[in-house]
Amino acid sequence: MTMLAAVSIALVSIALCLIFYQQFTSTIRAEIKGRAEMFREMSATQLMTTWRAQPTMVPEDMRLTLIAPDGKVIYDNTVIAEKLGNHADRPEIRQALATGSGASSRYSDTLRRQTCYFAVRLPDGFVLRTAKTSDSIFALFGHALPLVATVILVLAVLSHIAAGRLTNRIVEPINAMRLDDEPMAPPYDELTPLVRAISEQRQRIAAQFAALEERTATIDAIMDSMSEGTLLLDQRGTVVAANPSAGKIFGFAQPVAGRNILELLREPHLARLARQAVNGHRHEETIKRHDRHYRAYFSPVTSGGAALLFLDITESGKAERLRREFSANVSHELKTPLTSISGYAEMLASGMVREEDQAEFLAKIRDESARMLALIEDILLLSRLDEEKSAGALTEVDIGQIATEAAAALADKAAAAGIGLRFVAGKAVSVKGSGSLLNELLFNLLDNAIKYNRPGGMVEIGFGQEDEGGAIISVRDTGIGIPPEARSHVFERFYRVDKSRSKTTGGTGLGLAIVKHIALIHKAEINLTSEVGEGTTVTVIFPAPADV
Ligand code: ADP
Repeated sequence: MTMLAAVSIALVSIALCLIFYQQFTSTIRAEIKGRAEMFREMSATQLMTTWRAQPTMVPEDMRLTLIAPDGKVIYDNTVIAEKLGNHADRPEIRQALATGSGASSRYSDTLRRQTCYFAVRLPDGFVLRTAKTSDSIFALFGHALPLVATVILVLAVLSHIAAGRLTNRIVEPINAMRLDDEPMAPPYDELTPLVRAISEQRQRIAAQFAALEERTATIDAIMDSMSEGTLLLDQRGTVVAANPSAGKIFGFAQPVAGRNILELLREPHLARLARQAVNGHRHEETIKRHDRHYRAYFSPVTSGGAALLFLDITESGKAERLRREFSANVSHELKTPLTSISGYAEMLASGMVREEDQAEFLAKIRDESARMLALIEDILLLSRLDEEKSAGALTEVDIGQIATEAAAALADKAAAAGIGLRFVAGKAVSVKGSGSLLNELLFNLLDNAIKYNRPGGMVEIGFGQEDEGGAIISVRDTGIGIPPEARSHVFERFYRVDKSRSKTTGGTGLGLAIVKHIALIHKAEINLTSEVGEGTTVTVIFPAPADV
C-alpha cells in the first residue's frame, strides 16, 4: 500500500510539474512576444531614444537587446553591450533577419535555468530581442521535491498504520477460528471455500489416520501375539520394533525402539549378522540361549532395513530326538524276542531237542511271539495316538462299566497270581471320551497293579466324582512299589524299574506311556503315589465336563 501510494504521488507530482511548466513557459513566450510586437514599428534609434528618455518604458523583468543587422549588439538592458560578442549566429536572430521574427529557447546547465527568446526585425533592419529566464523543469521539480517527499512520508506512515489495522481486522477472525468445530463456521463469506477445503482435508486426514491406527494396532497385535521373537531394524541398524517374545529371548524390556541392535542382542556375532542383513545378506542358523534352541533368520527388507526372526525349536528338536530314540528302542525290543524265537526254532529244526522237551520249546516260542505281538500292538496304539492327538468321536462313557469290563478281562490273571480285585463303592460317573481308549487305560493300570503285586495282595479300583465336578478313577495295589528316583520315569516309553521282572511278567515297558497319552488326550491329570514294599496308587482325574 505504501509503495503504491508513494509511486502514485510521485507520478502525479511529475505530471503536475510538467503541466505547470508547460503552462508557465507558454505564458513567458506570449509575454516576450507581446512586448517585442509592441516595439515592432519603431526603429532602433527611436527605441533607444525612448528608453533613455523614459526608463520606465524598459521592463525590469525582461531582457531587451538591440542587434545591428551585422550581429553586433548595440544595446542591452542587463549587461554592457560592448562585452557581448556577435549575435549573428543566434538562431532567433538569424530567423528574424530572414523572416521578420524568430523564437528560440536555451537551457543553461550551470544555472539550471531556461531562457526564452523572441526576436523581431525592425523597419530599419535592426533586430530587437526580448528574453525572459525561468526555472527549468528540473529546478521546478527540485522546488516541489521536499513537499512531495513530505507528503509521501506522511502517506507512508498513514498507510502503514492503516495496512496494519486492516491486516489485523482480516487476520484476527481467521486466528480465532476453531478448527475442531464441525461444521467449521467461516468468519466471513470470502473464506467459505478455504474453510470447506480445510474441513474436507481434515476429514480425509482423520479417515487416513484412523485407517493407519487400525493397521498399526493390527500389526502390534500380530507382533505381540507371535511366539517367535521378532525384531525390525531400519537402514542404520537401529531397532524400529521388537515384540515381547524377542524381549523374553534376549532379556530386554520394552520399549526398545531407537536403541542399538548390539545393545539388545549383546552378542557381537548376532549383531554382526544383523548388520549384514541390513546390508542385504540373508542368513539363518541355530543359536542357543538359556538352554533353549532357536532357529534365527536374518532377512533383509526390500524397503531398507532388516527383519530378524527367532523360532523356538527346542520342543521340535526334543520331539525329533525322542522319535529317534523310540525307533532305536523299538528295534531293540523287537530284536530280543525274535532272537529267542529264532534260537528255539533253530534248535528244534536241527533235531537237537529231545522229544519230551519239545513242548516246552514250542511254549517258549509261543510266549515270545505273544510278547512280540503285545509289543507291536502297543507300538501301533502309541503311534496311532501320536498321530491323532485327539480322542476322535467323543461319547459319554460310563466309568463304572469300563472298570468292570477291564477287571473281568483280568480276573483270571489276578486269580492265577493269587491277587484279589475289589471295587471301592463310588458314585457312578461318566466322562466324555473314547470308550476303547479309556478301557485301554484302565486295563493297563490294573494289569500293572496285578503284575507288580505280591502273592495274596489286593487291587482296589475306585471311581467317583471330584468336588469340582470332574470324574476320578484310582487303582491302588499292595505291591512292590516304585522307588522315588524311578517315579518320574515310569511314564516314559520302554522304561522299566526292574527289567527282568517286567520281562517275566510279559511287560512291554509301554503300558504307562500309553496311559499317559490317553490321559493327555482326555485332558486328564495323572497322580502317582507309591511306597516301596507297601504299594502304589495311580489316580486319573478328568476335568469337569464344562472344561472339556
Ligand atoms: P511294563 O509293561 O513293564 O509294565 P509300564 O509302562 O506299564 O511297563 O510300567 C513301567 C514300569 O513301571 C514297570 O516296568 C514297573 O517297573 C513300574 N510299575 C508300573 N506300575 C507299577 C505298579 N503298580 N507297582 C510297581 N511298579 C510299577
